[in-house]
Amino acid sequence: MDEVKEKLFYQPKNGYDVIDTQERLACEDYCRGYMAYLDAARTEREAVTQAIKLAEAAGFAPLSPEGGPIKPGQKVYWSNRGKSLMLAVGGKKPMDEGFVVEAAHVDSPRLDLKQVPLFEDTELGYLRTHYYGGIKKYQWTAIPLELHGVVALKDGSCVDVVIGREPGEPQFVVTDLLPHLAADQMQKTMAKGIEGEKMCILAGSVPYAGEGSDRVKLALMSILHDRYGVTEADFISAELEAVPAFDVRELGLDRSLIGGYGQDDRVCAYAELAAILQVEAPERTAVCILADKEEIGSVGVSGMKSQAFEWFIGRLCGGQRSVQEIFSKSFCVSADVTAALDPMYPEVMEKQNAAKINYGVGFCKFTGSRGKSGASDASAELVARLRRICDEAGVLWQMCELGKVDQGGGGTVAGYMADRDIDTIDAGVPVLSMHAPFETTAKLDCYMTYKCMRAAYNAG
Ligand code: MN
Ligand code: MN
Repeated sequence: MDEVKEKLFYQPKNGYDVIDTQERLACEDYCRGYMAYLDAARTEREAVTQAIKLAEAAGFAPLSPEGGPIKPGQKVYWSNRGKSLMLAVGGKKPMDEGFVVEAAHVDSPRLDLKQVPLFEDTELGYLRTHYYGGIKKYQWTAIPLELHGVVALKDGSCVDVVIGREPGEPQFVVTDLLPHLAADQMQKTMAKGIEGEKMCILAGSVPYAGEGSDRVKLALMSILHDRYGVTEADFISAELEAVPAFDVRELGLDRSLIGGYGQDDRVCAYAELAAILQVEAPERTAVCILADKEEIGSVGVSGMKSQAFEWFIGRLCGGQRSVQEIFSKSFCVSADVTAALDPMYPEVMEKQNAAKINYGVGFCKFTGSRGKSGASDASAELVARLRRICDEAGVLWQMCELGKVDQGGGGTVAGYMADRDIDTIDAGVPVLSMHAPFETTAKLDCYMTYKCMRAAYNAG
């Protein structure tokens, strides 16, 4: 009977029942590289910088703004304002025949500093924030934070700021109310318990010597001036992001899980990056996108809606033909995380269509919410194509849906690729505590997602 079941039933498998010792070692090896990348890439800019380092080491060169079409085996990258990155490896077939693109994003939920952030209250110094992306605000209080970003000065120069990453450097915190005095707060809903305007970062407490008002603010500003040469007005042209200060760590007695900030979606970004760095001479040109601004709707010059993508593809074609013509022949894997079934919260999932930890890369035919609204729905033919690619390459995969019908939902960059007339399907790593300051993935799923991305490039 088991044989008949094996033949007739869809039976997803726990990866540890199917991979051999050699593949387990390959998985560990891959995850070491991923964890190092994640640890070093705390913001979209850092994710791009780190990716360029890896790409250059693998023989990629900056794309020249002029020149002919990409040659077979040629490896190029183009950084879009340092916030998103596009890479390509030239295929044996010309660009006329379409390309294979994998698109992930490297921005993650965080607390951005406001443009006029610094103030003092009760002789404590604070930095005001405006949160970025979808967060449960209560998760971001009373945890250590680091400050990363840039201050652009009027003279055209840019000051890089990283405070709190190195051992021994100071870190930051958004304070929360003690339980003893939280009787009123505890009656509020979780959505209202922490207010956005109260998410101010504690920045210091020592007053400037002398008499007068705002002495703590002045002392803090003078530290920043000494260290970075900036004044309060320079915050106006700064992008400073407070991100969780947790190190990336193995989790569990068996070390099978990975804990870290920003795994949505740097886990898939690294998977497709690692894949394209190994592609030598694909049938069709391989394109890898690390996009910005996905968490706020893929808007802006560095988001996936931007025409920067058309420009890049145009350059790969040698700038001589309409990119529109080749989009319809192309294939896109939108590489983004999906929600893993959390046995502590099974009520939000319909188990038969939920992604499980250790069951491999999750395919999502559609995303969206409430009757598939806003979904990019991959065609049946496209799902079949990805099934075939993964089965032929020994990739463990599972079919999944983001939660129960009418429970909520979400989206990815898939819709913006499909809008361009590119056949697009979502596939990525199942995540526990998605969008939390410390997200959890399984090593095996990270590795299988990488194998899926590599197989899609190699299939052409
Ligand atoms: Mn995502
Ligand atoms: Mn997200």
